[in-house]
Amino acid sequence: MSRRKLVVGNWKMNGLRAQLGEVEAIGKAAAEVPEVEVGLCVPATLIAGATGCAGAAFIGAQDCHMKQSGAHTGCLSAAMLKEAGATWVIVGHSERRTDQHETSADVAAKALAARAEGLKVILCLGESLETRDSGKAIDYVLNQLAESLPEGAAPDWLSIAYEPIWAIGTGRIPTMEQIEEMHSAIRTALRQAIGAGAADGMRLLYGGSVNADNAAEIFGLADVDGGLVGGASLTGAKFAPIIAAAA
Ligand code: PEP
Repeated sequence: MSRRKLVVGNWKMNGLRAQLGEVEAIGKAAAEVPEVEVGLCVPATLIAGATGCAGAAFIGAQDCHMKQSGAHTGCLSAAMLKEAGATWVIVGHSERRTDQHETSADVAAKALAARAEGLKVILCLGESLETRDSGKAIDYVLNQLAESLPEGAAPDWLSIAYEPIWAIGTGRIPTMEQIEEMHSAIRTALRQAIGAGAADGMRLLYGGSVNADNAAEIFGLADVDGGLVGGASLTGAKFAPIIAAAA
């Protein structure tokens, strides 16, 4: 089954309007490789501005609330993000699971709220170093998948990112065998959960310290359909070679 590669930047809490030139540069890099789908998940304050200059890249958000509206001070609904120009949203990033104490049930509800507004979703999974060292990484991630997978999960609106927490922003990555083993386990579990056809069409991204030096090798692994990239997506100069590596 051929799956179009997907490479998405996550700017986290970085970026002011002064950085919109980087969005433009990334949009131009995306236009060079139409066979790769490229996106940038920017802070909500930048979505509207970024949409105007992202060129061939799509603009996404980094989280949404599971409710459509209401008394939730400081939160943003999927409809608000869509109105601002987002077409995708990340849910369940480990920084939100940890810092905001989001549960897998919350994450599944957020994914459904996003889908109800027509947003595409990247659902993040990943184990801590302690879990990896205890030899239980696969069990942990598959359990997280089972608990976070939204009803109706399908490849036309959902992609999954495996992001070992200990690899995020650390410069340390799993071995290629460990990445392949985890992605294969996720694909196999998806086949049981949503059927072989849907599972085989779903894009599985790797995230955690992807850079220009390691991207091509990681993206070339079986069952790796692209990447979710933090630090190295902040500038066109750093992100463009990663986008090119997916081509
Ligand atoms: C992330 O936080 O999604 C991420 C992958 O970060 P980094 O690339 O900086 O490790």
